[in-house]
Amino acid sequence: MPRELLLQVTPEIAANELLLKDYLSKQIKVSPQEIQHVSILKRSIDARQKAIKINLKVFIYLKGEPFQESKIELPVYKDVSKSQEVIVVGAGPAGLFAALQLVELGLKPIVIERGKDVRGRRRDLKAINREHIVNEDSNYCFGEGGAGTYSDGKLYTRSKKRGDVTRILELLVAFGASEDILVEAHPHIGTNKLPKIIEDIRNKIIEFGGQVLFDTRVTDILLKNNEVEGIVTQNGDTILANKLILATGHSARDIFELLDKKKIFIEAKPFALGVRAEHSQQLIDSIQYSCDYRGEHLPPAPYSIVKQVNGRGMYSFCMCPGGVIAPCATSPGEVVTNGWSPSKRDQATANSGIVIELKLEDFKPFAKFGALAGMEFQKSIEQKAWHLAGRTQKVPAQRMIDFTQNKVSADIPKTSYVPGTTSVEMGQVFPGFLSQILREGFKEFGKSMRGYLTNEAILHAPESRTSSPVRIPRDPITYEHLQIKGLYPCGEGAGYAGGIISAAIDGEKCALMIAETLK
Ligand code: FAD
Repeated sequence: MPRELLLQVTPEIAANELLLKDYLSKQIKVSPQEIQHVSILKRSIDARQKAIKINLKVFIYLKGEPFQESKIELPVYKDVSKSQEVIVVGAGPAGLFAALQLVELGLKPIVIERGKDVRGRRRDLKAINREHIVNEDSNYCFGEGGAGTYSDGKLYTRSKKRGDVTRILELLVAFGASEDILVEAHPHIGTNKLPKIIEDIRNKIIEFGGQVLFDTRVTDILLKNNEVEGIVTQNGDTILANKLILATGHSARDIFELLDKKKIFIEAKPFALGVRAEHSQQLIDSIQYSCDYRGEHLPPAPYSIVKQVNGRGMYSFCMCPGGVIAPCATSPGEVVTNGWSPSKRDQATANSGIVIELKLEDFKPFAKFGALAGMEFQKSIEQKAWHLAGRTQKVPAQRMIDFTQNKVSADIPKTSYVPGTTSVEMGQVFPGFLSQILREGFKEFGKSMRGYLTNEAILHAPESRTSSPVRIPRDPITYEHLQIKGLYPCGEGAGYAGGIISAAIDGEKCALMIAETLK
């Protein structure tokens, strides 16, 4: 049996196999040569002290003890080309993992995606960054892989269901992600690595008889006696099936409008809204690691901060160390920010959404839109920001201290946001109460993270697509829509996920629920 050990070592020892073996040999009082292999099971950084430590959980195999490299394999998939068909709308993590699960269960997914395949999307991302052109079907939110494809690929979730999380992480490893994601406390994949993994998932679905249609936008859902019959696409084509997983994400406003128009029950849902702050990565490293230079063994530091301000939670969201701020609008006439990082997180800047939790009562001025009130509130802020910054994909920007002092910044230095920025007093973008909370909150943040409140930090607005402004209610046991038989609202857009992993888990769950009904 291997020996299990929990230990704290320096970053240098954690990064070097020989040094680690040497260290362990002293701990368990054997010679380093007697250690056959060390498996790292968990790794996290403890930056609470000035001398930063790495927490490790390891298995030590001594010479002569049975040890085999374990390889994570894909499940056994079946040929489903002639099986019962299930429509999956949306090829984000929810839709793709639903489709994979359906194949595993012997059902045939027909995945329908409005955007392009993951490689084809790149041209449209370039167009939004360089030419300010927003393609309404292919952008940072829409297209194969969904919203998280060109992201930081953070894979942590607040889900307590560790078994479900591990299964998704293992599937990602089987599709080519580094095994490190199984070990790190805060795993991430990175924009450069995600597309290939997504492509391989799609190819597997097709190899076993599933269908994947790109450039195909669902424009209607066919119903008979409150039961799904199929869908209609933008070309007027119909695809028939009486099971439909709707995994269209938090930005598919046309789908929310369609459901509302068809009187399919949906409800407004609170979400969070704010700005995206950018600091130099070096500054964040120095705050988080209490040092001037983080050295070669520590990763670019992340941060996570939450404060209660005027009775509201204000917190960092989707923080991207060594990352870039991305233009995430899905329609012309609006601007939206979010962030991404490459796998090495080696860009010079650190960005994070800094958002405030909204309440349903905040949507009152939009009450006439009923269940779409939150969505209209969100849209109004994105459109106002577009107007204020000059009606391109430039975003309103302000230095952080200037913002807390209601002062328009005299200049805005170049930031990682490629389309560019316009100096604007942020108070104009948000309703007064939100600006007030943000101003107070940044001062509070500066007290917890010394150096964070600085005029070197640039705020970009708005960070508005934090989660869905609408919930599509479903039965908590069967996952079927409360009113429409055969409709399975799924993932972030339906209000049941808040990130790549939780969306993937929800996709799998919807597929499992459908298989249950067909037994
Ligand atoms: P989505 O990923 O939004 O997928 C929905 C899909 O449905 C899209 O591909 C869309 O094109 C398609 N669709 C919409 N309408 C239609 C229609 N009418 N017909 C056909 N297809 C349609 N999360 C993390 O966990 N970690 C991160 O690091 C991270 N970084 C992010 C960075 C960015 C820039 C963005 C935008 C998001 C990030 N997120 C991150 C959030 C994460 O991407 C989402 O939580 C996740 O993708 C939700 O998955 P989903 O499958 O529910 O929806």
